[in-house]
Amino acid sequence: MNERYSRQILFKSIGEKGQEEIGKKHVLIVGVGALGTHTSELLARSGVRKLTLIDRDYVEMSNLQRQHLFTEEDAAEKWPKAAAAKEQLQRINSEVEIEAIVGQADAVLMESLMDDVDLLIDGTDNFETRFLLNDLAQKYRIPYLFGSCVGSFGMAFSIIPGVTPCLQCLLKSLPLQGQTCDTVGIIAPTVQMVTAHQGAEALKILSGKMEAVRQAYVTFDLWENEYLSLKAGALKDKYCLSCGAERTYPFLTIESGTKVAVLCGRDTVQIRPAKSEALSLERLADQWRSAGYEVGGNPFLISVVKEGMRSVFFQDGRALIHGTSDPVEARKIYHSLLG
Ligand SMILES: [Zn+2]
Repeated sequence: MNERYSRQILFKSIGEKGQEEIGKKHVLIVGVGALGTHTSELLARSGVRKLTLIDRDYVEMSNLQRQHLFTEEDAAEKWPKAAAAKEQLQRINSEVEIEAIVGQADAVLMESLMDDVDLLIDGTDNFETRFLLNDLAQKYRIPYLFGSCVGSFGMAFSIIPGVTPCLQCLLKSLPLQGQTCDTVGIIAPTVQMVTAHQGAEALKILSGKMEAVRQAYVTFDLWENEYLSLKAGALKDKYCLSCGAERTYPFLTIESGTKVAVLCGRDTVQIRPAKSEALSLERLADQWRSAGYEVGGNPFLISVVKEGMRSVFFQDGRALIHGTSDPVEARKIYHSLLG
């Protein structure tokens, strides 16, 4: 018996055969914050073949209270979350192949990755990306583990294409949107409870025990001591545009133009160019230094302070403009910095 995984193999519902299956699987995790760091650690330790991690952000001090894998050094150096997580995970399990992508999980990027993926896991903090994952799951027939948490409240649901309702179906009947903004804060155990659900479901699916997958939608409030499990089968909508007979996968339709998003509760605006284009970070840094701006950074990104606002530019042309929630103002700064 493989000693590393012996306790998981002794667990009779997994066994040698289940472990062998887990070792063949590729899991894609979108969002490597609170949820994504927990599930990626769990799956790296459990011995999957490959993990792909996608995240658009970098580590900040306020993440350390609940986001596993990250250190004070990562925050000080503004290390991208996907890259920082990969480094730490390879120390935990060097046998797992890990691909880290620093970027926005948009339809173009995601469709290019679907070939070889066995499971999609939700680690995002926004419904725009969740609906994209939901459509990908249906189009490519890949199970998708939805999870979400805020404050002491969390929810989880396993979406199995062709079997369960999808996220769009659920949304018609349940108040899923709720309070998703991080201004209300969060306690770490809420994250762990959601990822305990996502992690257990992942092990069932990856070891091939589909009959064990939970068919119910789960919500809980750890502070109010409430726990609810709702049978969701009847919520499947035959007219659903994501999973119904006449499906169109509305969230995979490619939009064009520059995309501006106000990041909830962060006093930050993200700006993405219409087409991701490689920026020469070194050239920009030189330009800004000679203009007298304060410039910092690492191999993945550069930060610059102009007019009291800190902007962070990534290699793919994306920028986070901190210190404003006004898209017009943010766009002005963005264009003035790129010249
Ligand atoms: Zn549906």
